[in-house]
Amino acid sequence: MRALVLSDIHSNLPALSAVLRTVQRKRIDAVLCLGDIVGYGAQPNQVVDRLRRLKAPLVCVRGNHDRAVADGDQVAGFNHAAREAVLWTRHRLTPENRRFILNLTPGPRIHQEVTLCHGSPNDEDEYLFGGADAAEAFDGVETPLTLFGHTHLPMVIRRDARGKISTTAIEGDAVVRLVPGERLLVNPGSVGQPRDRDPRVSYAILDAGRGILRFRRVAYDVEAAQRAILRAGLPEILAWRLGGGF
Ligand code: ZN
Repeated sequence: MRALVLSDIHSNLPALSAVLRTVQRKRIDAVLCLGDIVGYGAQPNQVVDRLRRLKAPLVCVRGNHDRAVADGDQVAGFNHAAREAVLWTRHRLTPENRRFILNLTPGPRIHQEVTLCHGSPNDEDEYLFGGADAAEAFDGVETPLTLFGHTHLPMVIRRDARGKISTTAIEGDAVVRLVPGERLLVNPGSVGQPRDRDPRVSYAILDAGRGILRFRRVAYDVEAAQRAILRAGLPEILAWRLGGGF
């Protein structure tokens, strides 16, 4: 399986379009999506439409923003800007797209020996940064490779054959090999709202047959995404943060 790994698209159409343009000539057997398709950004319908029209099969788990948009009672833990965007999105999604978001599967979900989840395998709302929390996350899965999102930070957490855990933040493009006997928790970073001070789109390509995962960054039209947010009347911070990648 050669899969495109996307997470935290957050209604950012220019960012999603940039990734899909970059990979359009490559063989992609599946698109693995780790949740938070909507929230924060201003083009939820366009983003969901693009995902629904993909040629490759889409395998997706829901994120906390997807859940909040689909279910009216779920905004309690959100900050002001996030809550505003959730409420705004809820009233703008077409009935079909709202149904699509509502029907997303909660993680963890296994696809061809790869576990997909949003926060961690144990809790879709958990922020996984490595360290001691990762031990429990590794215990919660049965596959060598787990893909997660939610923190918007590209990262590899590795547990070697002796059980030692190490965490590596990924900067820019990088290649990671899956070693037999080891387990990996991998965050591809965020497509639509990167938070590692690099505003470029972050995603990954998994070549499962060869045991290789490639992290990629690609520039996109940040200003178009910002303009759409401001034009929609969403909180300005949601536009500014895209420029700085925070
Ligand atoms: Zn997110």
